[in-house]
Amino acid sequence: MAEKLALVGIGKIARDQHIPSIESNPDWSLQAAVSRHASIDGLDHYEALDELLDSRPDITTISLAIPPQPRFEYAAQALKAGKNVMLEKPPGQSLAECYTLENLAKEHGVSIFATWHSRYADCVPDLKSWLSSRVIRKLLITWKEDVRRWHPGQEWIWEPGGMGVFDPGINALSILTEIMPYPVHLSEATLEFPENRSTPIAADLTFVDPTGADMSAVFDWREDGPQNWDIDVETDQGRARLSEGGAKLEIDGTLVKQGADHEYANLYARMAELVKHGKSDMDLSPMIHVCDAFSLGRRLTTDAFHY
Ligand code: NAP
Repeated sequence: MAEKLALVGIGKIARDQHIPSIESNPDWSLQAAVSRHASIDGLDHYEALDELLDSRPDITTISLAIPPQPRFEYAAQALKAGKNVMLEKPPGQSLAECYTLENLAKEHGVSIFATWHSRYADCVPDLKSWLSSRVIRKLLITWKEDVRRWHPGQEWIWEPGGMGVFDPGINALSILTEIMPYPVHLSEATLEFPENRSTPIAADLTFVDPTGADMSAVFDWREDGPQNWDIDVETDQGRARLSEGGAKLEIDGTLVKQGADHEYANLYARMAELVKHGKSDMDLSPMIHVCDAFSLGRRLTTDAFHY
């Protein structure tokens, strides 16, 4: 029988991805929305999570599609009420929040899933498999997009906990931590903060690879030309380019695969598996790189940013 689910936060990603992905998966039955402003035709609507928890004890799973700042409070409340919880990325504002949520899920015997949608992009498993039998010499992540185009009016990304350019950049880090055959760690970072904002608009990262490969990332939110979500890898047996956020793979300049968008469908399929088997998936390795960048990063101040 389908698990009954409620979606919290009816914003951009809820409408674009969560609702269609839940509705097309027979393992889930979307029953209710918790939203301070919006309602969805055909669904029970609650303005606050505690109203939902009081009124609908039959709902087993809560999916949180809200920004990172309020997420901990909502997730903790849902876990304490014995609900399974699915977290949009990033899973929290801080690592400590994430560890607390993981422990709460254990204590209450429910599943928690820190989702990393970019890991479920079509060509990520192909690149991972290709890399597994090669020696990496160089890896460059280029994640450059126009914040005005992709985050219009989203003030929370500029507030503490909103992560700034790491909001998209953590997607690249979630792919990196998935495809690498061994862990790497951050050694240096430079973060550019607009003088009127609390989070960075650009970041340069350098990683230490234990085998000596040259590994770095460039994130920039000021790109108003072609948008780049690319990972270029040079190995002892050829070059790979993963682009379009993981949807396209070229090897030695030849197109190998151009995938379709199944990221959120795959996330809900994974969550159904976790709930069915009473398991959790709380891989925090992408968050560790972001937290290290804020900890190690040299801070530069740049021009004020206005929408
Ligand atoms: P959004 O549209 O700005 O906000 C989502 C919804 O969260 C809002 O519509 C609002 O819903 C609720 N919300 C906002 N502030 C809140 C607060 N302080 N307390 C409680 N609820 C609040 O953001 P989004 O783009 O959907 O992103 C949400 C999360 O998904 C972020 O973590 C983001 O990184 C992730 N994500 C976004 C995208 C994307 O393309 N946009 C892609 C992948 C992942 P109500 O008015 O219904 O309360």
